[in-house]
Amino acid sequence: MQKLVQQCRLLGDRQEFRKVMNLRSIDVIATRLWFDKLVPTRYPANVLSGFETTAGATFFNLNNLQDEYRDAPGSVITADFYGANELLPLTDEEVVARVKSHLEVCERGFKGATVVDSAVLRFPKAVTHFSPGSYASRPFQATSIPNCFLAGDWVKGVSHGANGLSQERAYVTGLTAANLVVDHCGQGSKAVVLDVEPDEPHIAAAKQANQAVRGVLDSLGLKSPLL
Ligand SMILES: Cc1cc2nc3c(=O)[nH]c(=O)nc-3n(C[C@H](O)[C@H](O)[C@H](O)COP(=O)(O)OP(=O)(O)OC[C@H]3O[C@@H](n4cnc5c(N)ncnc54)[C@H](O)[C@@H]3O)c2cc1C
Repeated sequence: MQKLVQQCRLLGDRQEFRKVMNLRSIDVIATRLWFDKLVPTRYPANVLSGFETTAGATFFNLNNLQDEYRDAPGSVITADFYGANELLPLTDEEVVARVKSHLEVCERGFKGATVVDSAVLRFPKAVTHFSPGSYASRPFQATSIPNCFLAGDWVKGVSHGANGLSQERAYVTGLTAANLVVDHCGQGSKAVVLDVEPDEPHIAAAKQANQAVRGVLDSLGLKSPLL
């Protein structure tokens, strides 16, 4: 999008598109490891926090999540590193060894398992960096160009519970953009966008408290440093 904005006068003339130039992206490494035996994990989806100094990571047990691997003879684990700048230069073998060592800390059963196959994919600058201040530079779905609508995990102003870096948000905003096109053209049938389940009570309470604090700050004319 940044290249389009730089090269297309129609976009570059408009501040809402020029603001996109303020956004940054992060490096990601996606890995998949096949093991010689099944190692049960307590949870199918997991966050690896504090394992790397600058990168965060997740790992998923695909035997529990994907039909394709439900009956696999060994564990199939996918692990992704976000903010993986420092890890990009490592060899595939080094990355795989790192993933295995992290897994062993989380689930001791991996100590006795051997990696029989693996894949390591590097995605430099591939993922939107949702950082303090970035909200102000992200675009809305409807733009000042009447027949141009935006979709993707990075747009803002989406009245839906699918937030942040997620395929769900990308999907929801895609449907919403298509619905805006239907509105604009006056023809076609709109897609139904299902909302997420209601927040659990403690999350709902925290959101209410946050809104109350923001309301007070707004009434005092104080701006959030994050927006
Ligand atoms: C390693 C990794 C793991 C992830 N894991 C999860 C997860 O477990 N769960 C989850 O919900 N989300 C996950 N995400 C995030 C999720 O993938 C993204 O939020 C989602 O794909 C964003 O969709 P998008 O349509 O906004 O952008 P993208 O999926 O990036 O799609 C943009 C498309 O535009 C194309 N494109 C770019 N420039 C041009 C151009 N000039 N002309 C034509 N086409 C162009 C690109 O090739 C790409 O296909 C993960 C992301 C990564 C990288």
